[in-house]
Amino acid sequence: MVESVEAPRAGAVLTVDLGAVRANYRQLANMTRGACAAVMKADAYGIGMEQVAPALALEGCKVFFTAHLEEGIRLRQLVPEHCAIYVLHGPPPGTAKECFQYDLTPVLNDPGQLHEWRTVAHKLGRELPAAIQLDTGMSRMGIASTDLAALSRTSDWLQGLRPTLVMSHLACADEPGHPMNDAQRRRFDTLREVLPGVPASLANSSGVFLGPDYHYDLLRPGAALYGINPQPGMPNPLRQAVSLRARVVQVRSVCEGDVVGYGAHHVCAGERRIATVAVGYADGWLRSLSGRGFAFVDGIKVPIVGRVSMDSMGLDVTGIPAERIVPGAEVELMGAHQTVDEVASAAGTIGYEVLTRLGSRFHRRYL
Ligand SMILES: *Cc1c(COP(=O)(O)O)cnc(C)c1O
Repeated sequence: MVESVEAPRAGAVLTVDLGAVRANYRQLANMTRGACAAVMKADAYGIGMEQVAPALALEGCKVFFTAHLEEGIRLRQLVPEHCAIYVLHGPPPGTAKECFQYDLTPVLNDPGQLHEWRTVAHKLGRELPAAIQLDTGMSRMGIASTDLAALSRTSDWLQGLRPTLVMSHLACADEPGHPMNDAQRRRFDTLREVLPGVPASLANSSGVFLGPDYHYDLLRPGAALYGINPQPGMPNPLRQAVSLRARVVQVRSVCEGDVVGYGAHHVCAGERRIATVAVGYADGWLRSLSGRGFAFVDGIKVPIVGRVSMDSMGLDVTGIPAERIVPGAEVELMGAHQTVDEVASAAGTIGYEVLTRLGSRFHRRYL
């Protein structure tokens, strides 16, 4: 039976289950005695900040993180005034005023940002809230321990600032046995002694599952909210939030020796039926899935054959009844039978990359 096509004008339908995102938030929030924030960077990991942020605010989330100032400005329009929005990258040089204007709290990552934010506070003649990020070993963002030591030698290093959060980020939280986790946690405790009484935050999604020692005052999950497994190799305790169904454009029969796709890399070993579906790498469906990934038809696994093209790819649907695979019919790329993590593993990457790549071409449906 041909399933009804939601949006025959688009190549695929991306369905986001906001109920699942909310349930995931609740589950994570229930794991801690502290508070739980939500990370919204990259358009809520590609699934739509405009829909996700208000849904999480309704679920009781009061603290949000974006990466860029621009994302923070957009987010400010989407959540109630009382919600805090932290900008992880801090204020780019010369933009402190905009942070102030949109009530965005910068995460100050180095002495330069600290200095700039202090200067703004001085000019405005008032104390400004700020988060302070400390580098505990990842060498990505945050004040280095040597800089922190130099800064905190002067008693007025925080003058004009009201630190509302001290935070750091774990490099190996998805590997529970990795010695970096404990080392970074201890380092965090030592370094944050210069900020007594300031609420602390260390755990991303995987960090939450390292146990209460890592929870501090505020959890900072992103991925887990959107259904990515925070504990790779173990059963996913969270709900899938995204499903993707692609439309069949054409079906053909091929013979032994026929080739499929660019580069003529896939050579058919016998008579096969090939369906061309309307999703390709320009939709964010990774090209590395060529000859390695799968789709599902009514629960039956069908392989991607040949290279993923810009706007389409081939599926070997020989095992599927012919009347099921006709132009306009839908196949599952993600959903009940295939998680975002499984797609990622076939593509040789992580669920984060699969989600954040999902393009703007799909018809989107929010439940
Ligand atoms: C992206 C990010 C998070 C969220 O990480 P997840 O693994 O998606 O939960 C938390 N904190 C910082 C600093 C981040 O950059």
